Amino acid sequence: MKVAVFSSKAYDQQFLNAANTDHDLVFFEPRLTLVTAPLAKDFEAVCAFINDQLDAETLEILASQGTKLLALRSAGFNNVDLAKAAELGLTVVRVPAYSPYSVAEHAVGLILMLNRKLYRAYNRVRDDNFSLEGLLGFDLHDCPVGIVGTGKIGQCFAQIMKGFGCRLLAYDPYPNPACLELGVTYMDLTDLLSQSNIISLHCPLTPETHHIINATTLAAFQPGTMLINTSRGGLIDTPAVIDGIKSGQVGYLGIDVYEQEEHLFFEDLSDTVIQDDDFQRLQSFPNVLITAHQAFFTHNALENIATTTINNITDFAEGRPCMNQVKLT
Ligand code: NAD
Repeated sequence: MKVAVFSSKAYDQQFLNAANTDHDLVFFEPRLTLVTAPLAKDFEAVCAFINDQLDAETLEILASQGTKLLALRSAGFNNVDLAKAAELGLTVVRVPAYSPYSVAEHAVGLILMLNRKLYRAYNRVRDDNFSLEGLLGFDLHDCPVGIVGTGKIGQCFAQIMKGFGCRLLAYDPYPNPACLELGVTYMDLTDLLSQSNIISLHCPLTPETHHIINATTLAAFQPGTMLINTSRGGLIDTPAVIDGIKSGQVGYLGIDVYEQEEHLFFEDLSDTVIQDDDFQRLQSFPNVLITAHQAFFTHNALENIATTTINNITDFAEGRPCMNQVKLT
């Protein structure tokens, strides 16, 4: 099958080529947008990543040019207009699980880095500054940690935090039996927000979870709470969180995702003047740590993403039902 692979970096090419035996993969570096969609003319399959634009207008162009399959290299599919895809007869497949460990471990990395100020300590010691002023942290042992969303990644995160001896609280409309067995206490969102010293977001971005952290829910936080988001940027109302940081309600912010990230992440913009004022404001705080959507970025995850993506394409090409098809509910 002829596959147009968008937003492809050298590492995507390396892992997809290694997993591929049957398909004709053509790699395009640009993001899929209305402007770049014509590149996929006559490609039966389009392979897309998280910041590719799969809205109604783009899908119409793709379908009119002969595309039949959208193969996402991600678990999340919030960037796809599923109703339009169904109307146009486009099949959407994804990689539901590639390494929940990669994302959960990165979330824990952000917590440790923020709590013990490792980013400051590293720079200080390299500068022969051995002072401890400003590096004071807190024990994770016995710390109440709130997990919003206890699916595959939330469960891995709970397992790791249990190892630290944390008290685990969770909010999820569908409690996970494995988490209950770990000793996780489920409660409603407001109780979780008001009882946790660390809150980590692991739910998908949906209309219900859009800006789940906003001015109202931030008011329920204990002053100084640590907020971690490795899920999707749209879960957080950024201006409200900036206010929360300024007031001290949010004591630490660790994010791997940002609502407007498609204009920034995955590119080297070091010679550019960033025009996003909210992003620049976040960068100015000493208690904010931002990584550029790298939580998934492990060797294991990339291998699994590539293998599942190629298998999904093969299933479609051979007319088999694909277990990873995303259906409109
Ligand atoms: P999953 O489907 O296994 O789990 C999601 C959980 O969220 C489910 O238990 C579901 O019941 C729960 N949920 C749904 N609506 C909710 C709500 N309103 N409030 C609280 N919980 C709710 O998904 P997963 O594999 O654990 O992935 C979670 C998210 O992580 C993905 O949707 C994706 O956005 C994100 N992700 C980020 C990266 C990264 O590199 N940063 C990589 C992979 C996934």
